[in-house]
Amino acid sequence: MKNGKLLCDGREVLNLCSNNYLGISDDLDPLSVANASEMVGATASRLIVGNHPSFGKLEQTIAELKGAEAALVFSTGYMANIGVIPAISGSGDIVYSDRLNHASIIDGIRLSGAKLVRYRHNNPDDLKRLLEKETSYRRKLIVTESLFSMDGDIAPLERIVDLKNTYGATLMVDEAHSSGVYGEYGAGLVNELQLVDDVEVQMGTFSKAYGCFGAYVAGDQRLIDYLVNKARSFIYTTGLPPIINALNTQAVEIAKKDNWRRIQLHENALFFRGQLRKSNLDVGQSQSQIVPLMVGDDEKSMVISQRLFDNGIAAVAIRPPTVPKNSSRLRFSLMATHDRSDLERAVEIIAETVGDV
Ligand SMILES: *Cc1c(COP(=O)(O)O)cnc(C)c1O
Repeated sequence: MKNGKLLCDGREVLNLCSNNYLGISDDLDPLSVANASEMVGATASRLIVGNHPSFGKLEQTIAELKGAEAALVFSTGYMANIGVIPAISGSGDIVYSDRLNHASIIDGIRLSGAKLVRYRHNNPDDLKRLLEKETSYRRKLIVTESLFSMDGDIAPLERIVDLKNTYGATLMVDEAHSSGVYGEYGAGLVNELQLVDDVEVQMGTFSKAYGCFGAYVAGDQRLIDYLVNKARSFIYTTGLPPIINALNTQAVEIAKKDNWRRIQLHENALFFRGQLRKSNLDVGQSQSQIVPLMVGDDEKSMVISQRLFDNGIAAVAIRPPTVPKNSSRLRFSLMATHDRSDLERAVEIIAETVGDV
């Protein structure tokens, strides 16, 4: 529904758990795609017969938006991460990963055979200590999310870039939750901070703020050519159906054009965080549209989630192993299309519920 609501068994609930941050999925229009009916089926691996022109169009749109030479579309964000990391690092190499990075990043590193070193979350001093300590590895890769999916806080990208330059490492940034949401035209945080030339691998998805499906990697032409030949999750799988490419392109164009969506989303997030804090609720380090409500106890977070749902609010409880032990939480996500009055009411209900449990 258009105002950030869901219909569950005929009952309207406020959707505070959507990744469709900009409300774009409500406005995608498959019927406006030229030759839509011919673009519905899947094809094959893009290296066999599956390289439909819709891929090139989407990749060019992304490369231009990101300020990169080239881009490559993957079928999902999970597949992008498990394809790219093993393509650019292997045994004898080392990968430095933020402790709270997404599971797909961890799986990519494990698949690569490189040594995995986890640094403290958003802590460049700890990263520096580890970069200094390990000297016997051939290539160094640093991987971080730009906006963290479970905490809603933002990586200190400028400091990480300084470190990667000092220690001769490569940097990969996963913008799954910031693509479309930050930067002019929604180009993401790397672009907003003018770090494009220092981030070798810009990765992101179409499945979050773009409200559609799939993922991309952007970087220089050499990287993209290399991935076409090396990334196994690109080579050995069926490409996205062309209609999805067309809708992803549509979504990126909508996000570019509609600055109001970003403005409203950030205003809604600021309001919601502020109101929860005023009610003495712990929203951790959140500085974005992702707002955790720290609970700690697993069981308690489940009870709160259920009671909120009974009171017309959909929000998920996130528990280990998705988050570290004893840090269970509710994870709220805001949308550009939420009404202020609905958010006000939601905060009241949340504060009451937490007080009761
Ligand atoms: C969602 C997500 C992914 C995976 O994307 P999918 O397209 O859902 O496979 C990767 N990285 C991060 C940080 C994510 O939040």
